[in-house]
Amino acid sequence: MRIVIAGAGIGGLAAALSLHAAGFTDVTVHERADVLRPLGVGLNLLPHAVRELTELGLGDRIARLGTAPGTLAYYNRHGQPIWSEPRGREAGYRWPQLSVHRGRLQMELLAAVRERLGDVVHTGHRLLTVPTDAGSQGCRDAALGACFATGDGELTVAADLVIGADGIGSALRRQWYPDEGAPVWNGLTLWRGTARAPGFLDGRTMIMAGDAEQKFVAYPIGNGEINFIAERRTRGYAGENADWNRAVDPAPIIDLFRDWRFPWLDVPGLVAAAGEILEYPMVDRDPVGRWTHGPATLLGDAAHPMYPNGSNGASQAVLDARTLAFQLAGKPLDEALAAYEADRRPATTALVLSNRRQGPEQVMVLAHERAPDGFAHIHDVLTPDELTEIATGYKKAAGFHPDALNNRPSLSVAG
Ligand SMILES: Cc1cc2nc3c(=O)[nH]c(=O)nc-3n(C[C@H](O)[C@H](O)[C@H](O)COP(=O)(O)OP(=O)(O)OC[C@H]3O[C@@H](n4cnc5c(N)ncnc54)[C@H](O)[C@@H]3O)c2cc1C
Repeated sequence: MRIVIAGAGIGGLAAALSLHAAGFTDVTVHERADVLRPLGVGLNLLPHAVRELTELGLGDRIARLGTAPGTLAYYNRHGQPIWSEPRGREAGYRWPQLSVHRGRLQMELLAAVRERLGDVVHTGHRLLTVPTDAGSQGCRDAALGACFATGDGELTVAADLVIGADGIGSALRRQWYPDEGAPVWNGLTLWRGTARAPGFLDGRTMIMAGDAEQKFVAYPIGNGEINFIAERRTRGYAGENADWNRAVDPAPIIDLFRDWRFPWLDVPGLVAAAGEILEYPMVDRDPVGRWTHGPATLLGDAAHPMYPNGSNGASQAVLDARTLAFQLAGKPLDEALAAYEADRRPATTALVLSNRRQGPEQVMVLAHERAPDGFAHIHDVLTPDELTEIATGYKKAAGFHPDALNNRPSLSVAG
């Protein structure tokens, strides 16, 4: 089977590796960018994604890129502790959570694709259309395949299956949902950066401080770097600015957080130490009712863009890739695509919606509502039962229970 993947992000590269491991040998990846560079800042791979990368034989390589957080801790905007919980192995998973630089992860996956599949990643290829029955335009000579814009004009690549892993602005998704428009914005703006800075707390803790109006997230990502996301409710409409690489002046952000100097973390100092600040609106898209049309399907952010606050975008793309390859190895094409979508679409739809409800960060929202000026002890404002219920409720809803992951059969294809 000839398989064409559009997009060499985390999802597209994970799909190429998963398909190869499942026995597919005729796979090419076509990326819009002329050159693949290690773009982005930090992201988290949750244990369910680390399991899949480990079963692809990449566990050690990925682990070397970053750090494995052992704790997630929530604070109010005064730096007072609200709740903390173990993460990764410390939480009972057989696989760690890993905090890594997105660009370094992408380059490692790219290197693995080249080692295993050869020279199959083609840059400077921007997907235009896939002539399936629904909404095809242009490239009419392509009976079945994918049509790309290249520096030398249009190129049609024949395929039995096209996978749209082309991110939040997916061309394939737009072909099927032409009226969808810009991503949906929730009014929050994120400023992301990394800084070489001393570790904080025990050096393996991811922290979230603040409330629904203003928040700061920080965690180490290896290499002596701390990744951070500063977040603030802003005015106007910014949904169309969903560009991951928009650099902005750090001065106003440092000013916004000028009072956030905690005994355990100097927030304005950390922002000031960053080489570059990237602005991104907190956007996602409404879940769609169908990912597959004919022999073409969506994967990763193209299928289910979600708020980055759930730390799940890259992880879910990896899970999509492994599930799709597993189904394709065991079933005829149309049945495999149906089984892939039946598994992954409801699961990711639930996550998109759950991230909109702020998931476990509700503890910060409630603490702020009940004690905006701070508290002597968190149990004066939130009972232990309330705290536990919010934390475990999200994990159950999102299917994160350690037992579920630890005992699930592998998605590796035998033989
Ligand atoms: C440059 C960049 C920086 C990012 N930085 C961060 C970050 O710091 N933190 C974070 O949590 N998430 C970041 N993300 C998003 C994160 O990588 C994804 O949410 C997640 O990994 C899911 O991966 P994906 O492969 O589905 O999408 P993406 O990682 O977005 O990859 C999509 C790929 O498709 C390519 N592409 C787009 N349109 C076309 C087209 N028409 N034809 C061919 N190729 C196309 C893009 O150039 C990109 O390489 C970033 C994404 C990008 C593209």
